[in-house]
Amino acid sequence: MSTKHKSSRLLMGNWKMNGSLASNQVLLDGLLQGLQQQPTEHQVVVCAPFVYLAQVQSLLADSPIAWGAQDVSAHDSGAYTGEVSAAMLKELGCSFVLVGHSERRQYFSESNALTAAKVHQVVGHGMRPVLCVGETQEQHDVDQTQQVLAQQLAPVLALGAQQLAGLVIAYEPVWAIGSGRSASPQYAQQVHDFIQQQLQQAGCASTPIVYGGSVNGDNAAELFAQPAIHGALVGGASLQADSFLSIVAA
Ligand code: PEP
Repeated sequence: MSTKHKSSRLLMGNWKMNGSLASNQVLLDGLLQGLQQQPTEHQVVVCAPFVYLAQVQSLLADSPIAWGAQDVSAHDSGAYTGEVSAAMLKELGCSFVLVGHSERRQYFSESNALTAAKVHQVVGHGMRPVLCVGETQEQHDVDQTQQVLAQQLAPVLALGAQQLAGLVIAYEPVWAIGSGRSASPQYAQQVHDFIQQQLQQAGCASTPIVYGGSVNGDNAAELFAQPAIHGALVGGASLQADSFLSIVAA
C-alpha cells in the first residue's frame, strides 16, 4: 500500500467543546514554543470551537501551525440560525474543516448525505475537508465495519476526484474515541487498507488517511509505523501542549 504520505504526516488536534480565551493562549503558546525548539516536517493543525477561531487565527498568524473548524453548515447563507457557512470560515483564513465527526453523527443525527453536502461546501470554498468515518462497537462486533465505512464514504466520493483533491479521511473507530483504548496498529492498518482501496476506485488514491481514537504519546509511534497511517486526529491528548507535542515527535 501507499507510503507516499509517510514522510510528512498530518497531526490534527480536535479540541471538541473545550477551551477558554486564557487556556487557548497557554496551549498555543506552548505548541509554538515546542515547535520552535524542535521543528517538525509534519503538518500540525488545531481544530477549535467556532467562537475561538478568530483568536486562533490571530495567535497562529505566520506560524507553522494551521487551523481548522470542527463543523460547517451545508447551506450557502441565509435563514439558518446558529449555522456557520464555509464562506465565513474561508474569509477568516480557515484551512481545514472536520466533517461528520462521530459525535456529530451520534448526537446531532448527521446522515451520510448531510456529511457529503458539507464536504461539498468545504471544497467549494477552497478548504480541506477532514471526513471522519468509523464503526461503532456494535457494528464492529457483528463484522459490519467495511459495510459501514463504504456507506459513509460513498456519497462523498461521488462528488468526484477533481473536487476532492484536498480531501483527508480520518478513520476513527467510535469505540476507541475517548476510551483510552486505541485500535491496535494492525487493525488500524487493515482498515486503512480497505479505505485506501475505496479511495483508489474513486480516483482519489493520494488522499491521506489519518487515524483517530485515543492516540497519545505512548501509542503514536507504533501507529505511525504502519504504512497506511498518514497521521492522527487527536482529541483528549491535543488539549495539553506537552501531550500533543509528544505525538508530533513520535
Ligand atoms: C476525536 O474526538 O476525534 C478523538 C480521536 O478523540 P480522542 O483522541 O480523545 O479519542
